Amino acid sequence: LEFTIRKPDDFHVHFRDGEMMRLVVPETERHFGRALVMPNVPAIEDGRQADDYRARILDSLTSPDGDFFPLMTIKLTHRTTPEMIGEASEVHGVVAAKLYPEGATTGSHDGIRDVEELRPVLAAMRDCRMVLCIHGEWPEAFVLEREERYLPAVEWIVKHFPGLRVVLEHITTAAAVKFVEDASVNVAATITAHHLVLSLDDVLGQGIRPHHFCYPVAKTYVDRSALVYAVAHGKCRRFFFGSDTAPHRRHDKESACGCAGIFSAPVALSVLAGVFFGDEDHHNTLKHRQAALERFTSINGAEFYGLPLNEGTVTLADEPWAVPQTYDRDGDGGGPATVVVPFRAGERLRWRVASS
Ligand SMILES: [Zn+2]
Repeated sequence: LEFTIRKPDDFHVHFRDGEMMRLVVPETERHFGRALVMPNVPAIEDGRQADDYRARILDSLTSPDGDFFPLMTIKLTHRTTPEMIGEASEVHGVVAAKLYPEGATTGSHDGIRDVEELRPVLAAMRDCRMVLCIHGEWPEAFVLEREERYLPAVEWIVKHFPGLRVVLEHITTAAAVKFVEDASVNVAATITAHHLVLSLDDVLGQGIRPHHFCYPVAKTYVDRSALVYAVAHGKCRRFFFGSDTAPHRRHDKESACGCAGIFSAPVALSVLAGVFFGDEDHHNTLKHRQAALERFTSINGAEFYGLPLNEGTVTLADEPWAVPQTYDRDGDGGGPATVVVPFRAGERLRWRVASS
């Protein structure tokens, strides 16, 4: 059994920089037509930095003449001005700016405390047709309530800037699903592969599993079911795939204070195929499931961003494969090797990407 879908996009990736970037970029390039690159590490705050970073990403591709196209973001800080937005929007590949609440996650120490301070910047983004991507977590709230507690701030933005396109990134709760379904056509959300399969039990329920730890943390079974229902059966076309693939070195994850982030690029499509073609799903025919997967990975996001659909295809085959324990790269100039543990390391996954 195998099936073919239009080539997917990944609307949320962390490529990092240097040796790590050279290790992980090919894993996204292999399966995706485009990827929206987040601006936290390294910090990308203006158009020139985005342009330089994009050049370094292109240098890390294994097929520089292939079709892979990095889409870029800049990070909003208290230093961001409307002029910086205007300049960045002119740079090739820059399509969005990312709002991190101060202290919410990796590289957000200079993030935004009060969204109302962003008024002139958000107006400029609306006028330049730049998309606002939001890491929607209230950092001071209890960890399981951070996402829901941030929704009023998103509501304020949507109400005051109705012409601005807003993406709630990597949503994890039934509340966020409902928020997006009830919102205007200018509000969408990305959903990761890991949040469709993990609950908090997989992070803490049988020992601490650092490679299942990320922000926002995986929530309850009810929340996970709401996410799966929204992408596999829901009517709303404003949910699309963003892996939030976020590599950290192994020793930074397996640590007394482990970093948040899951490196999912190599397995993301296999995991998604498992979700959409899962055994429990008796309600939809194969054709319906395939169409739902394709909408989620290859159509909804491109349409929301106003991009053409990718031309190519990927084929997923029912051919179990073993996920490597690690992805490694020797250090440049004899330095220490970069070692990253992928999501589902060492497990056998049923669906393999047969060609892309
Ligand atoms: Zn992220």
